[in-house]
Amino acid sequence: TTSIWWVRDDLRIHDNPALRAGAADGEVVAVHVDEQIAGVRPPGAASLWWLHHSLTELGARLREHGVPLVLLSGDPEQLIPQLVEDTAAQAVVWTRRYHEPRRAVDARLKARLRESGLRAESVDGYLLHEPWTISTQAGDPYKVYSPFARACRETAEPRLPEGPPPRLRGPELTGSQDSSRWLDEVEFARALEGRGWLPTAPDWAGGLREAWTPGEMGARARLDALENVLDQYAEDRDRPGIDGTSGLSPHLRYGEVSPHEVWHRSLTSGRATGPETFRSELLWREFAWHRLYHLPDLATRNVRPRFDAFDWRDDEEGLRAWQQGSTGIDLVDAGMRELWVTGWMHNRVRLVVASFLTKNLRVHWRRGEEWFWDTLVDADEASNPFNWQWVAGTGDDAAPYFRVFNPDRQQSRFDGEGRYVRRWVPEIGTDHRAAPVVDLRASREEALAAHDAITAP
Ligand code: FAD
Repeated sequence: TTSIWWVRDDLRIHDNPALRAGAADGEVVAVHVDEQIAGVRPPGAASLWWLHHSLTELGARLREHGVPLVLLSGDPEQLIPQLVEDTAAQAVVWTRRYHEPRRAVDARLKARLRESGLRAESVDGYLLHEPWTISTQAGDPYKVYSPFARACRETAEPRLPEGPPPRLRGPELTGSQDSSRWLDEVEFARALEGRGWLPTAPDWAGGLREAWTPGEMGARARLDALENVLDQYAEDRDRPGIDGTSGLSPHLRYGEVSPHEVWHRSLTSGRATGPETFRSELLWREFAWHRLYHLPDLATRNVRPRFDAFDWRDDEEGLRAWQQGSTGIDLVDAGMRELWVTGWMHNRVRLVVASFLTKNLRVHWRRGEEWFWDTLVDADEASNPFNWQWVAGTGDDAAPYFRVFNPDRQQSRFDGEGRYVRRWVPEIGTDHRAAPVVDLRASREEALAAHDAITAP
């Protein structure tokens, strides 16, 4: 029998329970849908670049086994049943996702397929813990990270990764079946290019190509390198001038590696504290998804409603200077340039640039979140708004608004020798260095006063 594997954020063959469920019954046809669903924010430019390359790799891997990766665009509720008919498939499998309105799409599609007597199966695989399996004693969602993380650690240990990938087989396709054309490499490449996801002129992706290898092979290379960072992770993870972190975020974002595999790999190596701290970071990812699951409008609404009355500044010029890395503040400019060139920014620096935007420039966190959404290769619907609300102080378990990072102090603390800032801002110390767009101290005072205005009794 033939199963359809609807490929979403699980672009991998290893440790993929959905793919395994599909392959167990016989032949597999894979499909990726460029979904146009009302109410879903389209991916940003850096994400599309990544997805293009990741799908290229997955398509090639599947082709080796005679499995077509069908590329479709539009409404999955129409397209998947149509594909079922075309391929005479008896089952459809997919990895679960956690964000409305996508969940509603999946639920309706599942019901419809089952009504027609087909097997429709959704499987977990994107998170270590399904968001609804972790709750307080009263049965409520967690709002604070530490008890959430404790609860995760106290529930069952994340499942062990599966062994080697399943044996894959594609269906016998006759030339008359539309799916057969997807086995043609040239046809596949042309269709993917037709989606228009790569930059044309100017080609801004040179730095991304240099920094990353999208796809499962790149993910596995990072996974294999994980033990090199784990030993020193607790000390080095905050130092942007060295490669002290795993670089797994975009691979986890697209499901090119399972979080289970990453979790268990970290258990097998290194000293106690490095891997332990690393696993806490994986649990921050879980927490962000837990929050998004319970607060679907996390990207657009202050979790703390009193911030609705906050006096954000409408500062287009400041926003532009921030985006372009020309604020005149060394660590901020270094971070924003790293982001623009590589599609990624070190976590410590993300904290600093987000604090600078929302506090020193007092620009709404949503403007920053939107810029990250467009430029980060790891931008996701949970971690990005969650962390922005965390820094801005508008989230539930957040750094309080009055805690303002001082970029200069952060730099001397975490990049004391200036390795990171000089790499990205080579004009430091020359006449070409821009003057600061704001006075750090005065702007901090103004931010605190604006905050007082919404908290005063
Ligand atoms: P490592 O230090 O190696 O951590 C391992 C993994 O843990 C990461 O790959 C990531 O999946 C997870 N992780 C680590 N820190 C966090 C965190 N604070 N929140 C959620 N997950 C975390 N991360 C994203 O994956 N996508 C985003 O869109 C995103 N936006 C952010 C926006 C802001 C304003 C801030 C302050 C942080 C954001 N982060 C986001 C979190 C963090 O900066 C990145 O996950 C991390 O820098 C990725 O690098 P790494 O894989 O080397 O991390």
